[in-house]
Amino acid sequence: MLERGTIPRQEPTIQVGLVLPEDHQTDLTLTFPHPEDYSLDPRDQSLTGSITISTDDEQLFLEDVAYPEIQIRHRVSNNNHLVTLDRVIAGRGFHWQKWIPVTVAGDLIVRPFNGSLIVINRLSVEDYLMSVATSEMGADCPSALIEAQTIVARSWLLAAAEQKHADLGMDVCNDDCCQRYQGSAHITAHSRKGVEVTRGQVLLIDGEICDARYSKSCGGMTESFTHIWPGTAQSCFQVFSDTPAEDRIIADLTNDVRFEEWIAHPPKSFCSPSFIPEDQLGAYLGHVDESGHYFRWKTTFSQDELTNLINAKLGIEAQTILSLKPENRGGSGRLNRLSIVYESDHQIQTITINSEYEIRRVLHPGFLYSSAFIVETDDQHPPSRFTLRGAGWGHGAGLCQIGALGMALAGYDARSIVEHYYPGAELTTIYTKEIL
Ligand SMILES: [Zn+2]
Ligand SMILES: [Zn+2]
Repeated sequence: MLERGTIPRQEPTIQVGLVLPEDHQTDLTLTFPHPEDYSLDPRDQSLTGSITISTDDEQLFLEDVAYPEIQIRHRVSNNNHLVTLDRVIAGRGFHWQKWIPVTVAGDLIVRPFNGSLIVINRLSVEDYLMSVATSEMGADCPSALIEAQTIVARSWLLAAAEQKHADLGMDVCNDDCCQRYQGSAHITAHSRKGVEVTRGQVLLIDGEICDARYSKSCGGMTESFTHIWPGTAQSCFQVFSDTPAEDRIIADLTNDVRFEEWIAHPPKSFCSPSFIPEDQLGAYLGHVDESGHYFRWKTTFSQDELTNLINAKLGIEAQTILSLKPENRGGSGRLNRLSIVYESDHQIQTITINSEYEIRRVLHPGFLYSSAFIVETDDQHPPSRFTLRGAGWGHGAGLCQIGALGMALAGYDARSIVEHYYPGAELTTIYTKEIL
């Protein structure tokens, strides 16, 4: 397992969770194009082209024999060893969630956990990053974007600041909760090169690896770290307009009136359609994303839709929603506090939501693109319609992926892209290829 605060001096091995307890998966079929490249533990079973593992409660079953754990290890470290899992979840918990088959390099560890399976993929960091680079965005991306994305993904991983699944023995999971990792199916010579030329490169800030958070689109202004996550932030997370330096805009979007003006009159930023037309994003974004408008978007609810949604998400019994009140905006206009005023049992009540993530979870049947929005209602009392007009996709702190694409298409190299999004961080090589 990776350790927070430690800078590795040689390439580490990591443990990626492919199947998590919340997936409630009780069986799994593994297919091996080259079974001779693998060994199976338990050793009383032989590995054929395909095996199916299932669980009832506390044990695993393989060929009707019960085991507490099953490990599949590759035999030859430099071989192109691959194993295919018949299905894992992509987009876990989001509205685009789907089951996809994945083919991965490295070892697999399968364990029972409260009636379902967990599956861990153990592999080298650089093999993992090769898949992340293309899973996070389409393989047709410009080299500078793949290189920048890889540096950022490596930094975030090795900073190991979040470790959301450490209790399950996982450094990261395979999805947007950590970093999207969809195995080797999309690895191309192009993405392989993007990883190889940045091998061992991370961003350092004040002697530490940069906890390089990123999101899909900042919407034109990046967000501060502490507005999204409690605690202390590294100094490379700042609020600035996602524009060329000469067009930099100083705007106080914490103010509702200025934010509304800014939503209506978008700046010419790297993530805006002026750098990358939205109908061309599909060619570059990863294949499980919905196509749509991310830089500026609009979502409308009828009174009934909003009431039912909020009741379901918050477990309250509102009869009517009277208003959605923005309470606290960060530098990009993102809300981290919002009050919902509603009527229940002929009484007016207020419930306050206190995080950017929770606001996005509550105000959409799936997940709202971002919490940078203004609320518009019609003139009726109570309103019959609520429209959210918003900017960006994701939390907006650190690198903006669509903006980084805009920069790469405009000719910026990977170093310029990461230095733009993490001001003050230093690009450094912490390990190189081992000579065996
Ligand atoms: Zn995760
Ligand atoms: Zn941006």
